[in-house]
Amino acid sequence: MSKILIRGAKVLGGEPQDVLIDGETIAAIGTGLSGEEGGPGADGDTPATVIDAEGRMVLLPGLVDLHTHLREPGREDSETVLTGTRAAAVGGYTAVHAMANTFPVADTAGVVEQVWRLGKESGYCDVQPVGAVTVGLEGKQLAELGAMADSAAQVRVFSDDGKCVDDAVIMRRALEYVKAFDGVVAQHAQEPRLTEGAQMNEGTVSGELGLTGWPAVAEESIIARDILLAAHVGSRVHICHLSTAGSVELVRWAKSKGWDVTAEVTPHHLLLTDELVRTYNPVYKVNPPLRTEADVLALREALADGTIDCVATDHAPHPHEDKDCEWAAAAMGMVGLETALSVVQHTMVDTGLLDWAGVADRMSARPAVIGRLAGHGRPLAAGEPANLVLLDPAYRGVVNPAGFASRSRNTPYEGRELPGRVFATFLRGQATVMDGKLT
Ligand SMILES: [Zn+2]
Repeated sequence: MSKILIRGAKVLGGEPQDVLIDGETIAAIGTGLSGEEGGPGADGDTPATVIDAEGRMVLLPGLVDLHTHLREPGREDSETVLTGTRAAAVGGYTAVHAMANTFPVADTAGVVEQVWRLGKESGYCDVQPVGAVTVGLEGKQLAELGAMADSAAQVRVFSDDGKCVDDAVIMRRALEYVKAFDGVVAQHAQEPRLTEGAQMNEGTVSGELGLTGWPAVAEESIIARDILLAAHVGSRVHICHLSTAGSVELVRWAKSKGWDVTAEVTPHHLLLTDELVRTYNPVYKVNPPLRTEADVLALREALADGTIDCVATDHAPHPHEDKDCEWAAAAMGMVGLETALSVVQHTMVDTGLLDWAGVADRMSARPAVIGRLAGHGRPLAAGEPANLVLLDPAYRGVVNPAGFASRSRNTPYEGRELPGRVFATFLRGQATVMDGKLT
């Protein structure tokens, strides 16, 4: 591994500086660096490779996703650990948490270690497996949380995502159990009885279209319960994909109490509304559903003020045949890794709600802390691991899923112009993406 000198990068969006990478770490940040700093590089006297950021590209810590569906093992027709981590690298990510709803379910040390090893072999992005809360995601019996925590994968995030841990006693036990190893339960908040047969957000549009509605209270009632349970047992809970203004109020209240509650929002819930369901295009079918404009604005505000801790993609790849059908039969979910940063730039940065340092916090530092992931989400400083993303915020392009690195194409942004492009991604000093292309 040689030295890499990035010239004229706006570090966290600030004034242009030079950044020298030596081996796996950031060696120096300053102006007028020559690449000779610190003596010969890790591989001897080879001169540093120079990347010109032209005084306009922005350098951030590599992004961290708390919520990715990599689908392997079991649904390799939609994604594999390799294709999913390639998509992550293209999107500027250096670490992703792989959700447990695979086949078999990641509810044992054996399965989480398998996913963890596949991540190591991919080389594009660190993969941190999420363990299931209950055996088979069935909500009846706690999975082997301790064994997964002690495994080589060192699982710290547990989730039945896709399904809600709706039994209050099971949820309480899980919250108590994870305290032993500083873990967290990430809840997919969806009261099952209130959402039976639900097809979209419950509101004006669902009434007009005659589709079964998915009320906001189905999400909010579970969040309210879990906040209280976490406070009661002194544990920490993380709320997946917050989608309503009411959910924001609940998390804001919990934080005001000093309780250890964190929350994420997806890029699509920051941009899209249930008006899109009028098209009956199943690409807009997602769980939780797209909500109203008022919800979108409340979510943006909450991400800006820190009530919502982070952006998580809920990258949910599906093969063509599961999405290209009538609305009622279509699978729920959207791919998101390759467009997340552009959607956040569009909704949060270009609107003035968040600066680039804020993006680094919400898309890298905070998710790394919530997941207890060492080596990611670190400050940009000499001596820190060189997990980095260099992006061009001035770029404008139209989303074309044919060019995706993901195996699936179910993006809601096809044909839409979005700002920004990942120019380069570095995983421990190795470029995984250069000039927008996988290396
Ligand atoms: Zn979910």
